[in-house]
Amino acid sequence: MQLIEQLLPAGAKNKPGRNMTPKYITMHNTGNSAKGADAKAHASYLTSGAGGQKVSWHYTVDDGVIYQHLADTEQGWHAADGRGPGNSQSIGIEVCMFEGIDQARAEANAARLVAELMHRHDIPLANVTTHQHWHPSKYCPALILPHWDKFVAAVETAYNGGEAQIDVSKGHSVLVEWSRGAEVKELQSALNRHGYALEVDGTYGPATLAAVKEFQRSHGLDVDGKVGPATWAALEQEPVSQGHSVLVKWSKGEEVKGLQTILNGLGYGLDVDGTYGPATEAAVRDFQGKHGLDVDGKTGSKTWTALAQATAEKDDTLYRVQIGAYRDKANAEAAKEAAKAAGFEAIIKMDDGEG
Ligand SMILES: [Zn+2]
Repeated sequence: MQLIEQLLPAGAKNKPGRNMTPKYITMHNTGNSAKGADAKAHASYLTSGAGGQKVSWHYTVDDGVIYQHLADTEQGWHAADGRGPGNSQSIGIEVCMFEGIDQARAEANAARLVAELMHRHDIPLANVTTHQHWHPSKYCPALILPHWDKFVAAVETAYNGGEAQIDVSKGHSVLVEWSRGAEVKELQSALNRHGYALEVDGTYGPATLAAVKEFQRSHGLDVDGKVGPATWAALEQEPVSQGHSVLVKWSKGEEVKGLQTILNGLGYGLDVDGTYGPATEAAVRDFQGKHGLDVDGKTGSKTWTALAQATAEKDDTLYRVQIGAYRDKANAEAAKEAAKAAGFEAIIKMDDGEG
């Protein structure tokens, strides 16, 4: 395996410029499925300043080569945890996922690199982790997460001097709006397993597009409506089960996102970031106070039930506004047109005056 050093120069604006004793190794997938988005292309992206973004990591791995961008003893910006341990104590490795890559080979190369870094810096296997670990709302490494255990096993094999091998299940096609066929049916079924209610008709129409975008938004993926490797991988993850956990302050993850989404549906304005911080706790307390629950800020079974009821009641209530009653049909039409012109929906209902 060829390793090419193309280190970012001192003073580069897209790196922190701070020293580090590496204690963890953080795995990523690039999220870039475009043709030609290989390790070399990512090295060029970083050395040309990363488009002005504060972003940098240590290695990019593809199926043929590894580029190194930062010394192992220097911090990067890749974990989205600010000055937390992801950025300040971990070596970041991006695994490419471009169209046409031999994904299994790229992952095996990454596993070998991880094993070598573990030896070099005395990092235990338990400290080989994922971007998602540091930033729960980010589904990364999107392609490796569905078989994370296999990846870890391959790292362990390589660490012990064996040959790292990973079998990656066959890839799906990239689906876009108006794609048709068996794979679209598979997509619709997968979305339905995640709580959507699509007709499984094999046509990627507007309803499917809306569901895909919503799914991408709630999983920290690019919201582009294209079902590529990262979205397929997230879809193949088990959906969150129906039974809810008890969530408390600083709980993290998909269930917290679900809670935040439900609260927002009830009029709260929370960031759906998957972290049960002070704002989420305050919203839960407010909700509990208004619904006769113990105001403890924890979301246990009673609060989950009350949230479900409040959501259902809210959805069932229709508020009609009547703007007038007329004996003369022309006057009724005029009032309807005026309401429409003002941007409201308006209909005329006739009755005989006795109801
Ligand atoms: Zn990442």
